[in-house]
Amino acid sequence: MAMVPNDLPPILFDQLSDAVAVVDAREAHLPLIALNRTCREVLALADGPVAGQPWEVAFAHTAAHGVPAQLQRAVATGEPFAIGSLPYTLGPAVRPPWRPHQPTFWDWQVTPLRDPAGQVARLLVVMVDVTTRETSAGTGMSGATQSERERDAFLSLISHEIRSPLTSIKGFAQLALREVRGLGEGHARLARQMRVIEQQADRVARLVGDLSDAARLHEDRLALKPAAFDLTTEIRSVVEEYEATPDLHRVALHAAATPLLVRADPARIRQVIQHLLANAAKYSPEAGQIAVTLEPQGPQARLTVRDRGIGIPVDELTRIFGRFYRASNSLAGGLGLGLFIAQKIIARSGGQLRVESTVGQGSAFTVTLPLAEEA
Ligand code: ADP
Repeated sequence: MAMVPNDLPPILFDQLSDAVAVVDAREAHLPLIALNRTCREVLALADGPVAGQPWEVAFAHTAAHGVPAQLQRAVATGEPFAIGSLPYTLGPAVRPPWRPHQPTFWDWQVTPLRDPAGQVARLLVVMVDVTTRETSAGTGMSGATQSERERDAFLSLISHEIRSPLTSIKGFAQLALREVRGLGEGHARLARQMRVIEQQADRVARLVGDLSDAARLHEDRLALKPAAFDLTTEIRSVVEEYEATPDLHRVALHAAATPLLVRADPARIRQVIQHLLANAAKYSPEAGQIAVTLEPQGPQARLTVRDRGIGIPVDELTRIFGRFYRASNSLAGGLGLGLFIAQKIIARSGGQLRVESTVGQGSAFTVTLPLAEEA
């Protein structure tokens, strides 16, 4: 097996438990250069030459997830990208023999490799099996440890207990604020203090909400209420709401005027978009523009939130979707739950959340959701 990245000895390449493929980025049909043993097993390819096989043949099942287009973009831009928890819906002929009936789930990371002239010459594709993480909860499979289940139960309980006193703190703060404002200008300082109490109560409510959502999503107990709604209207409204805040970032929205009907839980999709916008702002400390693009792409709606912020180190691109994971670039404040929640909600809505990023240049998070039938 020649031409392994960085001349890694073939024996080591084959011993990796992650699936690794190297693709020739100079040809439009992205032929394979090398696959390691795990990758052959995943694809159920017999031993023998695969070199030269186009991506769309060996990885035919990835077309449904828009991966080929994503690869072409990586070749054009040189930007790495990651996809969290991509399910393999393999046909019987190419089903991994050790899991004959269940789908397997893989975190993907694609890194463009440049030649000495700076041209993207290869794509390094690494797939990590996260099936245990994705299916352990609620299915009786052995993956969720006793301590994880205890932690989920504890988090659910504690969030529930914090929520009711918090509701009265917020309610009384609002009431007091209204009364203080009625007392006139002389009490402006007191009014500001009451406002801080109210804002901080909101902040605790969001943290507690995230803890409880994450615990419920991990155990697959979060009830979604799908309905057909227009994603364009929803996104316009989130962006308007965002622009009404005192934040310094400007949001440029590019969305067609025509409706894009999807079927999902509108409140949860709104939560995801709000979080992606909040992250785009949080991780662009120099302010700057955030671009939000919404467009149809085949049978899907595609939403991208792009910032020009600090970016994410390439080796952490897939890990940022993990529960409680905060990357080495992370800034003060945050539990590392938002992207875990976002990714789970989108996956449960039949879509995908992916990220492309370059350190120092910014990040782009893309959500795809299946379009609803008009009827
Ligand atoms: P957090 O509360 O830590 O922001 P998230 O789950 O939203 O949690 O994000 C996980 C990690 O991913 C963050 O800690 C940060 O390191 C990284 N991250 C998320 N969004 C961005 C972004 N737009 N730019 C750079 N890094 C990001």
